[in-house]
Amino acid sequence: MIYERYLEVRNAIDEAARAAGRNPEEITLVAVSKTKPLEDMEALAEKGVKDFGENYPQELKKKAEAIKYPVNLHAIGHLQTNKVRMILPYTCLIHSVDSLHLAETIEKEAARIDKVQEILIEVNAAEEETKFGLSLSDTEALVREIAALPHVRIKGLMTIAPFVENGEDNRPVFRNMHELLLDIKSKNIDNVDMEILSMGMTHDFRTAVEEGATIVRVGTAIFGERIYHQ
Ligand SMILES: *Cc1c(COP(=O)(O)O)cnc(C)c1O
Repeated sequence: MIYERYLEVRNAIDEAARAAGRNPEEITLVAVSKTKPLEDMEALAEKGVKDFGENYPQELKKKAEAIKYPVNLHAIGHLQTNKVRMILPYTCLIHSVDSLHLAETIEKEAARIDKVQEILIEVNAAEEETKFGLSLSDTEALVREIAALPHVRIKGLMTIAPFVENGEDNRPVFRNMHELLLDIKSKNIDNVDMEILSMGMTHDFRTAVEEGATIVRVGTAIFGERIYHQ
């Protein structure tokens, strides 16, 4: 069941990519397994799925230590500085860096374990008040500051677009993100790659692919609705 849904999402990505004249292989599907049991991840991992997204540091660490298959764990949720040490040994890419303070904490912890941590800069592209992330206009300045940190490597940008029923409504947000990525890329900043554009979730991943996403983060369409126990 879970793997069938994963394949449906993957096919929809491939179709959207081809329709937009893009190579589907440029796009990584990150299966967002937050709140879901390890067995649900393993149902995909045993078929060869590698990329999973987690929001909560304890959960990421626990699953990393328990899973029987080789996987890439993406840290996609808002990250507090006091949780950096917990996830650093386990995460391939932190999607949600939105301050110099957080980047400096990652630098310190990455140096301690002799790792260069790949990160994305989170942009609040729709400028929603409730969201984390930088404004479009502040992003380049932060990229330049973080670029100086030797154990942190910026690979691109990430955004969480507004929650909409119709993904089409987020097209302008995705378009602005792609323009910003290309703009910063054109500045050729040392120690910065602008290769990854992480955007698109269950409701809007097709539109995100059409507008240049190279990573989409999909949870509900693969694993079903999440139930939060508080
Ligand atoms: C939960 C989450 C997702 C997945 O959302 P769905 O709507 O379930 O696909 C993607 N990105 C981030 C940052 C998330 O927190």
